[in-house]
Order: sequence, then structure tokens, then C-alpha cells
Amino acid sequence: MHIDMDAFFASIEQASDPRLRGKPVIVGGRADKQRTVVCAASYEAKRLGIDSAMSCAEAFRICPQAEFVAADTAKYIFTSRAIFDMLKPYSPHVEQASVDEFCLDMTDTEKFLGPAEEVARGIKSRIRSEFGITASVGISENRLFAKIASKLKKPDGLFVLDKEDIASTLKDMPVEKITGIGSSLKRTLNGFGIFIYSDMARFGREFYFNEFGKLGLWLYGVSRGEDGGFVPSWHGEEAPPKSVGHSYTLPYNAHNPELIRAWLRLLCEMVASRLRALELEGRCLHVFLRRPDLVFVSKQKRFQVPTADGAEIFMRAMAVINDRLPRGLEKFRMRALGVSASMLTPAGGSCLFESERKRMDLIRSIDGINGKYGEWTVYPAGVNGIRPT
Ligand SMILES: [Mg+2]
Repeated sequence: MHIDMDAFFASIEQASDPRLRGKPVIVGGRADKQRTVVCAASYEAKRLGIDSAMSCAEAFRICPQAEFVAADTAKYIFTSRAIFDMLKPYSPHVEQASVDEFCLDMTDTEKFLGPAEEVARGIKSRIRSEFGITASVGISENRLFAKIASKLKKPDGLFVLDKEDIASTLKDMPVEKITGIGSSLKRTLNGFGIFIYSDMARFGREFYFNEFGKLGLWLYGVSRGEDGGFVPSWHGEEAPPKSVGHSYTLPYNAHNPELIRAWLRLLCEMVASRLRALELEGRCLHVFLRRPDLVFVSKQKRFQVPTADGAEIFMRAMAVINDRLPRGLEKFRMRALGVSASMLTPAGGSCLFESERKRMDLIRSIDGINGKYGEWTVYPAGVNGIRPT
């Protein structure tokens, strides 16, 4: 059973402020409309064509009378935890898939709780009465298809997708709607004439394995309504990325070195976790800073050993700044900053020293926890209350 909250952030704002109910609500990174993107839009706003990742300025052009609300991450995380706690008694395996999605293993729960569909109705009405928001629920043979089913009747939906109905129900669904099929894989599949779910079934196991290796076996399973679980990584015909970077534009001019360091630390962690997801390490580190007068400063440095450790990347970023900027961060006013790693090589994994091995174990455990309970469940204290929205 996959439970997906409807327009989660915007719905929470509407639930906590009756003035916002029934109105187009746009949750932005900050109350400042000009410089952030839409984090979430209420269904009233979605109906006007506003959606996440659009710039707030554009959303404002579409609907000037929309209510703009600054994202309150702490409130969303608090609600998410409370929903997670509410769900725990329904299954021995309740997993938080993201801040607004939960997955429950309902194998063998029928004799204690009754049919899954009735359980889902009960959960939906509790979410509505206890939190004042709605959720869409999908029930299927496995986690992947339960997730797909949860999107079929949004908002406030409930969809039971029996295994024997998967092929007919999803036949016209574009393949990129399947979690795990990203834009590069979509393009390659399209190249073979595979555009919609029913196209996938026209090819056999051998085809998928020959063209995609391990990932092909996963695709073959998906074409038959199975969930291979872990999606193997695949870079397709494309070479692995040449660099991995993250940047952030501050909503104001910052001159406080502590604050700038906290943002840098956060960006370094984001770069590191993306490197680890790609199974890569980087040797060269670039730091980009943009001053309020829009002058762009870019400095870089090569290091002996490649790394995908956020703390190490942060130390390197500070080394780049201290060596290459005449006065370090003191008196430096800035508007935007970015960190990027290049000279990438496949992750080594051979640790020479006991301390390095322990450090790698720690990082892997943190990745494991964040993978299971959602990004930023565990993060370095140096980030100091700043979190990505
Ligand atoms: Mg959702």
C-alpha cells in the first residue's frame, strides 16, 4: 500500500489557516516572490497551471491573487512524522518513502485488520480528521505498482490495482511515469519504439538483458508487473557526468561568514551524496561565489586523493577559499554560491587506514538512514538549521 499526500505542503498551510482554504495557495522557498521557485501549489493553483519548480515570479504572473506562503519546513516534517507514527500500527513494515509518501507492507495483515482496501479507507479518513488534509492511496501486488496506483486517482483517490489488471489498466501510460525511468533511459527506450507501458511487453528478457544489462532484467520484470526492488544505476550511452555540482542563490546579500559557511557545508553534503549515488569520487573542487554587484568569482584546486565525503569536500572548499581569495570570507558579501567536483573517477572503496574505513562505514550508514527515512533525516550539525526547501 502506497500512501501519497495530496499537495502536501500547500494542504498543511490550508489546514492550519482557514483563510487559505479553497484558494490558490503557492508555497515558495521564502515569502519573497521574486527570487524563489514554487515548492508546492494547492489544487486550486494547480488548476490554473501553476506547479512545483515554476519560478514564483511566473506563478505570480499567472495568478496575482494567489496566496503566497513561505515554506515552513519544520511544520511539514513535524506533520510527516506524526502521520508516520499514526501508520505504524497498520503493518510491521511501514516505510517513509519521502516527506509525503509512505509504503506499508500489507502481506498477511488481512486476518488482523481486514481487507487492505478497507484499511486504506480507514487510514484516509483518519488523515482527513486528524490532520485536515487528504491522501491518495494505491494498493497492488508490490511496492512499485502500488506507487503507480496511488497516482491514478489523485487527489483523495483510492485505487486497487490487481496484478491481472496491471497490463490493461496501464497500457497507455508513458514509460517515464514509472519510478526509475528517468529522461535518459526514456529517450533510449523511445529509440526502440517503447513509448507507453504496453510497448514494454513486446520485448523479451533477452532483448532487455542484451541492451541494458542488469537494468534490463529490472525493466523486463516491470513489463510483466513485477517490482525488481532496487533499480540498478545506468548511464546509458552517455558518459558518466564530468562534474557534479550544486548552487544556491540567497534571498538577500549575505556577509556573515558563519552563515556562508553553513550554506557551503550544506552544498558540499549535497554534492557528496550525489557523488555517492553515482558511485563516483572527485579530485578537483571548484567554488563559485557571486557578489551582490553580480561579479562572479570562480576558484578551483586539485587534490591528491579523490573523495565523496561531505566533510572532506567542505574542508577542501574552505581550503580553496582561504588559498585563493585574498581575505577569505571575511568582508565578502555574496548573493549566490556553488560547489562542484570534477576529475571524477569510479568510487575506489579501498581504504588504507582504519580511520578511513570507519569513516566510510559511518557515511554508508547515514546514506542508509536517509535512503530509508527520507533525505536530511541525518545531517551534519554544521548546517546549523539551514536545510534545503
Ligand atoms: Mg504527494
